[in-house]
Amino acid sequence: MARPIKMTVAVRALFAVNNSPQARWGSKDSHPIVKATVALEGTGLSATTHTFGNMELDVSSLSSGEYVLVLTPDSANLLRNSSEPVNPNDGNKTDAPGTCRYRPLKIKVSLTIKDGGVQLGAASTCDGATHGAAFVQPPAGLLIDWKPDWIACKHSGVRPANSTPTIILLHRTGGPTPGSALDTFLPAPTSSHYLVDVDGFVIKLVHEDLVANHAGMSWWAGQNRVGNVSVGIEIVNKDGAFTPQQYDAVTRLIQELKLKYPGISRHGILGHGEVRVRSDKNLVPYLKKPTPPPLHDLTLENRPGCPGVYFDWTKLEDQGLCSKADPSLLAESKLGEEYGGYFKDNPLARLSNLTTDAKLLRKDKTPYNVIASLQTDLGSLGYSINAMDGVSITGAYDAATQAAVDRFRRRYVPGTVRDNKNLSPIFDRATAIALKRVLLDRQR
Ligand SMILES: [Zn+2]
Repeated sequence: MARPIKMTVAVRALFAVNNSPQARWGSKDSHPIVKATVALEGTGLSATTHTFGNMELDVSSLSSGEYVLVLTPDSANLLRNSSEPVNPNDGNKTDAPGTCRYRPLKIKVSLTIKDGGVQLGAASTCDGATHGAAFVQPPAGLLIDWKPDWIACKHSGVRPANSTPTIILLHRTGGPTPGSALDTFLPAPTSSHYLVDVDGFVIKLVHEDLVANHAGMSWWAGQNRVGNVSVGIEIVNKDGAFTPQQYDAVTRLIQELKLKYPGISRHGILGHGEVRVRSDKNLVPYLKKPTPPPLHDLTLENRPGCPGVYFDWTKLEDQGLCSKADPSLLAESKLGEEYGGYFKDNPLARLSNLTTDAKLLRKDKTPYNVIASLQTDLGSLGYSINAMDGVSITGAYDAATQAAVDRFRRRYVPGTVRDNKNLSPIFDRATAIALKRVLLDRQR
């Protein structure tokens, strides 16, 4: 009888990218995949990974050549509808937090068997699969990265009655890896429905039938708790440009979600930073109070960096997926009587500090009412324009109106706001034109 010749296989959830085995969720051994079956196709050889996600195969009966390893998760970890990436119709919503689900994965590997040993050559995924990768650990080890399509996170229960999603809220994680986001989400009540990695791989965290706590205490267009009516998509991004694969993945998700939820119009595709939010330190005592105070008593917090100035909305606008300040709807030269004729008379005017309509007067001392008109326009798009009730017109260019202008500019006047942190509340002619264009876009 031949002496055993062993190849070892280590199966982990690493979220590796760029052909590097570097773990992007904890360390290399942080997330072993247990009870998975690894079979060498056509040979009758198979084994199951143990507690540390490892297994051995005795390949002494084989001859050198190319083989295919077929990885099948334990039935409790098999993704439902596992033939395709996660989508709004999957059926894993009753999973306990922390449950990971996988699609089967096939890995091609070449074996050279001689002199009583085995040497592994090139290894790669079959059929261009992107939910895994293989790394040879010479001479006879194989490290497999198997990405879970589904990692159940905590949620806030089913949506309130008659609250199907009407909004998709885009976020930036603020960290370079999915791991940094998952390590935040898994122990906490905060989560999102989807997480999009830099290579475009999508991990689903919460089913859309359930409320994910990605918007906290928030307000948009008269709606408190935007999380109740929205689907959250977190995009892995520390700073700087988002990747083409991420735009592709976000596009696919928006298209699928719009098909499933016709209540999501292209005007419901928003950045987290556009929605008024409250700071988390205010959220906890708020929720603990037997009788919560009125929503607007809480301190406002701005999230201008989510998804931030590096998110290129034109990638979605060009496909007709979201609102747009479309130049074809209003030529620059056509801005005239809007805002009481303020920019006709004062083409270089820039509001950026507290002022009021009572101070902005025509030559004949009548007010332009430019701020009241601005508040009406921003309010009709959905932005919160005052700290009291979100909607009342005050005619004052105060902190709330300034924040709304900043939110609008980040989205629709790109290139003029360069900072992901500080507000840039400039209301000028360019912003006025963009605002009128978006309003016209809403009407078509
Ligand atoms: Zn966010």
